[in-house]
Amino acid sequence: MNMTNLKLNHFLEKLAVLVNLDSGSDDVNGVNQVADHLKELFASLGGHIQEKSFHPSVGKCLEIAKNPNMPIDILFLGHMDTVFSKGTAAKRPFRIQGNKAFGPGVADMKAGLLMIYYLLLDLTDANFNWCVALNSHEELGSPYSYHWLSDLAKKSKISLVIETGKALDSYVVQRKGGGRFEIEFIGKAAHAGSGHAKGLNAISEMAYWIQELHKLTNYDQGTTVNVGVARGGDATNIVAEHAQISVDYRFYNVKEKEKIKKKLAELKKNPFIAGVKINITEPPLKNPMIPSQQTLEYFKIIQQIGNNMGLKIHTETSGGGSDGNYTAFAGCPTIDSMGPVGAHIHSDKEYLLIDTIIPRFNLIKQFIKKINIQ
Ligand SMILES: [Zn+2]
Repeated sequence: MNMTNLKLNHFLEKLAVLVNLDSGSDDVNGVNQVADHLKELFASLGGHIQEKSFHPSVGKCLEIAKNPNMPIDILFLGHMDTVFSKGTAAKRPFRIQGNKAFGPGVADMKAGLLMIYYLLLDLTDANFNWCVALNSHEELGSPYSYHWLSDLAKKSKISLVIETGKALDSYVVQRKGGGRFEIEFIGKAAHAGSGHAKGLNAISEMAYWIQELHKLTNYDQGTTVNVGVARGGDATNIVAEHAQISVDYRFYNVKEKEKIKKKLAELKKNPFIAGVKINITEPPLKNPMIPSQQTLEYFKIIQQIGNNMGLKIHTETSGGGSDGNYTAFAGCPTIDSMGPVGAHIHSDKEYLLIDTIIPRFNLIKQFIKKINIQ
């Protein structure tokens, strides 16, 4: 039983090629090279491939659909970019040591991209309409592609995100939402000696904001607010004219998001030091991924399949966001982190556990057969 086209040595050979192509999110040529490579691979499956260019600062995305004019049964999500800059692959190329494979993006998520390909190769004759969305800048939070992903999700019965697996027996159905703010404070410079009273100290205003923002952290609610970067001032003897903070916030409850936004608006309206100007910029945020009833039903099926394989499947909650946040928020049942298991992602210690490739692959394949989406 279980005939498969996935031969581990071929998988690893293909993975080596992908990992050794640098594709940091801002490396447009690198990401496009990976896209071209995958285009060729996926072309053999007989789907329709569309390139999507959303912005000149990022590479192209790929939409590969079995039948682009039909509603989608299963939407597979993957991203081609990594967090590593150009030249990383030359410094530490793909290598295997025991059960671990190393290299930039090996687990997050170049192995997952190949897994999608092999799944579809094995399921060529299956009677369902699939679509693969390969994002070029997920690691940036998908600011130019999230509309596209949400629209695809609205047309799909289920989204499977083949992101890095966290452990052999775990899948993610819940993720925090989150976003960031860049806040700039503009005061008035003056000499710290002779003109002190005439100045407006932007650092002082910033310090007040940091305290107020950090008070919004609420572990019971799963809300965190973190000022991760703060800078300001020009010299010790000058009243600081400029200061700036970068704030990361995460939440499960949309009400908590509203609370944070309300607080920012209040602080802006009533600065601690009258006269200081405040500019707030906010890239698009991710809403939380909350499992729907349907998601949980799908998850139960995964658990049953896992049981038969001797795995005790459980869900894991992630504080980090993924493109799954967008598809879940669009109302599409979403199962995330379905790829082979990896660890230490976003660092030079990142690795992939080779012996998780086959079991995780088989589990998704059986799941797809089981839900037998018509
Ligand atoms: Zn990823």
